[in-house]
Parts: sequence; C-alpha cells; structure tokens
Amino acid sequence: MKRVTVPFFISHQGCPHTCVFCDQRAISGSRGLLPDRNELLVKIGQWSRSAGQRPLEVAFFGGTFTALERVVQQRLLAPLQSLLASGTISAVRISTRPDALDRETVQWLAGQGVAVIEVGVQSMDNQVLAAAGRGHDGEAAAAAIACIKACGLTAGAQLMPGLPGDTPLKALSSLQRVIEAGADFVRLYPALVLAGTELARLYVSEKYRPLSLDEGVTVCKQLLLMALKAGVDVIRIGLQADQGLTSGSILAGCWHPALGQLIYSELFHDLLIQLTTELSDGVPLTIRCHPGRVADVVGHSRKNLNRLARLGVAVKRVVADKTVSSLEVEVCSLNKCLKGSILNDLYY
Ligand code: SF4
Repeated sequence: MKRVTVPFFISHQGCPHTCVFCDQRAISGSRGLLPDRNELLVKIGQWSRSAGQRPLEVAFFGGTFTALERVVQQRLLAPLQSLLASGTISAVRISTRPDALDRETVQWLAGQGVAVIEVGVQSMDNQVLAAAGRGHDGEAAAAAIACIKACGLTAGAQLMPGLPGDTPLKALSSLQRVIEAGADFVRLYPALVLAGTELARLYVSEKYRPLSLDEGVTVCKQLLLMALKAGVDVIRIGLQADQGLTSGSILAGCWHPALGQLIYSELFHDLLIQLTTELSDGVPLTIRCHPGRVADVVGHSRKNLNRLARLGVAVKRVVADKTVSSLEVEVCSLNKCLKGSILNDLYY
C-alpha cells in the first residue's frame, strides 16, 4: 500500500550556509517558520483522515534539520512520539547536510523515531562542491550515508546534476559513489537558476550556463538507468510544481512539471528504437506495456510515436497489458514479437 507523506517545510531553518543554487523559500513556497506542536498535530490529523488505511509518514524537508539546536529538534519530534506509538504515523523522515551528521546524532534521531535521513549530496566531485559553495567534500557525503546505514536507518541522497563545473561523467560518477556508499534511494534535481541566488548572478553575467531541458533529460536518463540497474529507487526527478516555482522564480535550467515522465519516456523511446529496428518488416506494430506505463511509452504529446513515425515505423496501437512488467515492452508485427527490458537491454 502506497505511503502518504505529511510534509513540513522548514526551509533554511538551521542552515548556516548559502549554497549558490539555494533559495529554500522559493523552493518550498513557505515562510520558513518552524511549525509548533499544535500546527504539527492539526496537519497530521487532517492528512490522517484523508489517508484512510494507507500508512502515514511525517517528513521535515528543506533546511538542515540536524543543524537546528538539539532542543529545537526535540520540540519538533516530541509531538510525534505518541503518534508513532499508537501507529497513527509509521515513520519520520528528515533531510540534512552531510557535515551536520555524526554517529551520536543519528543514534539520537533513531531513538526519536526517525527512520529515514535524506542527505543533500548534490555532487561527489570536490571541484563542483567548492564551486557550489557547499562547504563540504564528497568524502563527508559518503561518510554520512555510511553512518546512517551503520545505525540501521534508511539513507537517501539528493543529487543535483548541472551545477557549475559539472559534466555528465561527473554526475554519473557521483551517483555511482553514493550507491557504493549505501544509499537506499536518490532524488535527482537538475540545477535550476532561481531568482535571487548566486547562481542567478553567475547566469546573468554569463559565467554559468545551466543544463537545458533536453540536456537535463539526457543526463538524467543515464542516471536513472544506472540507479535502476543498481536496484536503487529514484523517488523523485525534478522539483515539484508548487507556488514558489511557478511564480517566475525559475530564470533558467532543466525544469518541466512532468520531468520524471519525460525521462522514463526517453528510456522507453530508446528501447523501442532497438526493438523496432530488429523487427523492421514495414508492418504497423502493436506495442504492449504495463498499464502504468502507457503514457511513458506513448510519450508527452505522443512524442515517442511521432519520432517512430518519422523513422518510418508505424504503430497501430499501444496496448495496456498487466502481464508485461513495468520496465518492459513487447513489440509485435504480423508474425513476430520481440520483448525488451530497460534493465537488461539498454546501455549508455
Ligand atoms: S545547505 Fe541546504 S538549505 Fe543550506 S544553503 Fe545549502 S542547499 Fe540551502
């Protein structure tokens, strides 16, 4: 059963840094104030009623949770203890910086019911990290992930391809290293130029060019494929379209309201090209895929089918078929069917 996450944005709270890309207030659309006990309980109660039987998780996003004073962390976590004990909520998740975690802190958080810690890694390349003003190196990120795992918690890593000095190879290497460090899941947030940030100043003075949408999709499809092959969940690609992001705060960069779908579509497109090239007998084809993947296979505004048509490949229909697994497609002409898998048949 899919979990429901009750989000609390504690933007910039606890954070002593100013990374070049960061405007937490624009990202979260919040005023950056910490919720008090009553606000926590009221919101959780509302979400609990609409969640029905689905498990409920409380998440503190943004900011640097573990850089808050311990007494403040405790104040945020204390109201959740009885909810955890009664089963009203099943887990608590926080996010923080790599250099704001040590074993004692992680153990203390575990004792407060925190089960998942997401680490803002962004890159594992020290030059990219320095140019981004992060104030820590890749080793700190690897150590933080390893520490979370050693304490028995679930570790997530947020990566930001496209920062100043980054390259597709560096982005892939960064993902490889967080996987090796033990990350259970990742989020991919291609770098965006947000108004009011240092990155915006660099962009306006033409000292920085972010990834375009097409470039970001190309990098992210390779990252996604690497994560899928490693069995690491990619739980989010691209920032969510919320008020803060749609009010003109994005000056440039790889952003689309359905970026994750665009990227999955690219993987299916590349797989279809392989399969249809092998079939290539001129007969209109039938494509079968998992029901949850029809939109990805067809592509945004039928992009994949249109691209196949331009290559002379006619698709008669796309059929939703529960017997086809989520990362596979089957392509049939008159007398022959070929099945392909993103996991087993795609290489970049
Ligand atoms: S550490 Fe996180 S919250 Fe702080 S400035 Fe950097 S990105 Fe923003």
